[in-house]
Amino acid sequence: MLKRTHYSSELSPDMDGTEVVLAGWVHSIRALGKLIFVILRDREGMVQIVAPKQKVGEELFKKIKSLGAEDVIAVRGKVIANEKAPNGFEILPLEVEILNRAVRPLPLDPAEKVPAELDTRLENRFLDLRRPKVQAIFKIRHEMLKSVRNTLYKEGFIEVNTPKLVASATEGGTELFPISYFEKEAFLGQSPQLYKQMLMASGLDRVFEIAPIFRAEEHNTRRHLNEATSIDIEMAFSDDKDAMDMLEKVVYNACKDVYENREKELNILNYKLEVPPKKFDKITYDEAIEIAKKKGVEIEWGDDLSREAEKAIGEEMGGFYFIIDWPIEIRPFYTMPKDDEYCKAFDLMYKDLEISSGAQRIHLYDLLLNNIKNKGLNPDAFQYYLEAFKYGMPPHAGWGLGADRFTMVLTGQENIRECVLFPRDRHRLTP
Ligand code: ATP
Ligand code: MG
Repeated sequence: MLKRTHYSSELSPDMDGTEVVLAGWVHSIRALGKLIFVILRDREGMVQIVAPKQKVGEELFKKIKSLGAEDVIAVRGKVIANEKAPNGFEILPLEVEILNRAVRPLPLDPAEKVPAELDTRLENRFLDLRRPKVQAIFKIRHEMLKSVRNTLYKEGFIEVNTPKLVASATEGGTELFPISYFEKEAFLGQSPQLYKQMLMASGLDRVFEIAPIFRAEEHNTRRHLNEATSIDIEMAFSDDKDAMDMLEKVVYNACKDVYENREKELNILNYKLEVPPKKFDKITYDEAIEIAKKKGVEIEWGDDLSREAEKAIGEEMGGFYFIIDWPIEIRPFYTMPKDDEYCKAFDLMYKDLEISSGAQRIHLYDLLLNNIKNKGLNPDAFQYYLEAFKYGMPPHAGWGLGADRFTMVLTGQENIRECVLFPRDRHRLTP
């Protein structure tokens, strides 16, 4: 097999005369009598290969002519500067290796100009991913994950992995996928919440995890999946404000890194990402409700924010902003109260999309046990968790940031399925 020397993006007109080996897919092929044009596509872009019969010889010409769309090839050739070629150069082929032929017709054409239906694209996702627009989303997602990890490493967080096979619910409720675990019933984890809190009693001090969360909600919206990826942190000796400061750092750095390092991909997506200010606005839950009411949304104090409310508030606020000081009743049992009515919880929104929820947590055993009972949950199901609060649990806070939703923000996508390689929703379990 010819050994690749360059990606397409590493070539330029000033390499005129240099011999290189490229590898990739036949994006398109056009034969004009004694001249063939092949566009070769690799991960980094496209390159034009021009084969004049009289220069490449009868045999190589015939081989190139036999190529079809999406065949996998390696090409040894010479860089030829040419003002008229795309990017100012083309490749004169000296040797072509056909590594694998593609069956045609293709179920989905990666070179297709007209966009196919999302369902068809997801059915043939590996082909869909060959399209530069689709690949750009996942390169930006990768940049975001890298940036998030770098920020958290720098801030002294330890990366952990907690079980996804669990014996009981995180927060009660019915959003769990039951599975059979030998002779026992078990569930897929809906959140690492209880584990990351237990780790606060371990002395690891600051932990984070980037892992799947499973939610058996029946909803079929453009921002919900049944398997999502959550970026979760928990920090000891910290309160809700510390957790929000950390979230601002993580989100700001990710936006900046994508903006600075993924200009090409943002251009391919035709998306103007704005780097936010370092500090985000904060409004209280009460203020959020007032905004929604003012805009004609029917909502009462104590209601969770409906879709209509989120839209109204997002319209008024724009960009990234926190909603803080939530009523105790609509937040989970482990949330630290602020007074009799409100708790130290927050949501981070981007326009009308919730991308993160967090809080200072309760670290006091008696209060926690009381809350579990008050929410109608069975304390026995939380036995192992509760134990961790008896023998020296420091105050702590944290959040969960949806990686898929954050990718929507960074790439300007309206549908979360665009931001996940193989999405799992109400109807889709394959591929
Ligand atoms: P929503 O109210 O929008 O359904 P949630 O409040 O139930 O979200 P949390 O339990 O607070 O979600 O989870 C924290 C974060 O994880 C959310 O802000 C979101 O970014 C992400 N997330 C949660 N559930 C899903 C899901 N079903 N699909 C995609 N992302 C999710
Ligand atoms: Mg939430």
